Amino acid sequence: MHVYDRLGLRPVLNADARLTVLGGSRMPAEVRRAMDEAAERYVDLHVLQRAAGERLAELTRNEAALVTCGAAAGLVIAILACRNAGDLPTIARALEGRSVHDAAGPDEVLIHRAHRTPYDPAVRIAGARLVGIGNALQTFEWELEAALGPRTAAVLYVAGTHLARGALPLDAVVRIAAARGIPVVVDAAAQLPPVDNLWRFTEQGADLVVFSGGKDLEGPQSSGLLVGRRELVDACRVNAPPHQRLARAMKVGREEIVGLLAAVERYVGLDHDARIAAWEATVARWVEALDALPGVGASRAFPNEAGQPHPRALLTVDTSTGWSGPALCDALWEGDPRIAVAVAGTDGISLSPDPLADGEAVVVLDRLLDLLRRRGQPASDSPTAQRR
Ligand SMILES: *Cc1c(COP(=O)(O)O)cnc(C)c1O
Repeated sequence: MHVYDRLGLRPVLNADARLTVLGGSRMPAEVRRAMDEAAERYVDLHVLQRAAGERLAELTRNEAALVTCGAAAGLVIAILACRNAGDLPTIARALEGRSVHDAAGPDEVLIHRAHRTPYDPAVRIAGARLVGIGNALQTFEWELEAALGPRTAAVLYVAGTHLARGALPLDAVVRIAAARGIPVVVDAAAQLPPVDNLWRFTEQGADLVVFSGGKDLEGPQSSGLLVGRRELVDACRVNAPPHQRLARAMKVGREEIVGLLAAVERYVGLDHDARIAAWEATVARWVEALDALPGVGASRAFPNEAGQPHPRALLTVDTSTGWSGPALCDALWEGDPRIAVAVAGTDGISLSPDPLADGEAVVVLDRLLDLLRRRGQPASDSPTAQRR
């Protein structure tokens, strides 16, 4: 009996996204094997981090790399490093101060207002304050120039075509920040695929870039990849666990370190064109079958909600069906197995092919056809909202 069954949990098919609340990703066998091997033996964690970092840097065409316990933890560590440059006396003062804000280096991090995300509290945890530039719709170079000052520790840039509209291009940010010696940290947590993003942002001049290990890399859920300039990655290392310093609470285990390495080894060797072609085929099948139902519209949406270059299906229902987006989402979640999809407005849902395993796309489609051939039920007391 599976451990989730023993706990009385219903299985979940994930057609939503590689969300932390749903477990991130499924780990392929080679990743699980590496974690299992790591768990069997003791190792010097500092030495393991360095060895894995060297290999990860090579695989991702970067000067240096570090494994963290997630992209968000990577952001905290990156901002700490930008603030204190790994200088031990500065770190000592931060450890002795009333808060990490005290005497711990420059304490402002610039961010496009168009780039605010639920993950930017990482900056606060690193003892810095976010200073917004521009607005949701547009940002000018002079606004960035004007905000840069002696208190600026870094510019935090959130990559992704879905957030690009109101922000300056990365090239411009790098040019302006580098002229003042200010590092640019890129949050690229969900920006894989394309695989070449592993090196593209650093090639464009970003100083540090973080990726989630638990999204498309299909590594351990609690892992993240930090890559960038050697000097700054070394400063990250000084702040990072297993050192008993500011980021000690964000410890990463040996299983996650080798699991992420195995995931990246695998990822750079995948046939990404074939993966995307398979997702396109799934979306095409969903769209064709669902669009044929009365009162239902289905179409291919591209890029997806995270700006990734692969498709999802957008489904809308008109009032004649009795269904709404939230009601459909709830009904899918309440079935057995549970099926997770995203609500897309009051009259629709979206379906992602990429988090599903072979054979699951058909199960999702059959359940949807079954539900949509019946009259809709009102949304319940929103399990969807409780889940998020
Ligand atoms: C998922 C995500 C994160 C957090 O990544 P974790 O690996 O779960 O810590 C940070 N930023 C963005 C933009 C994300 O999409």
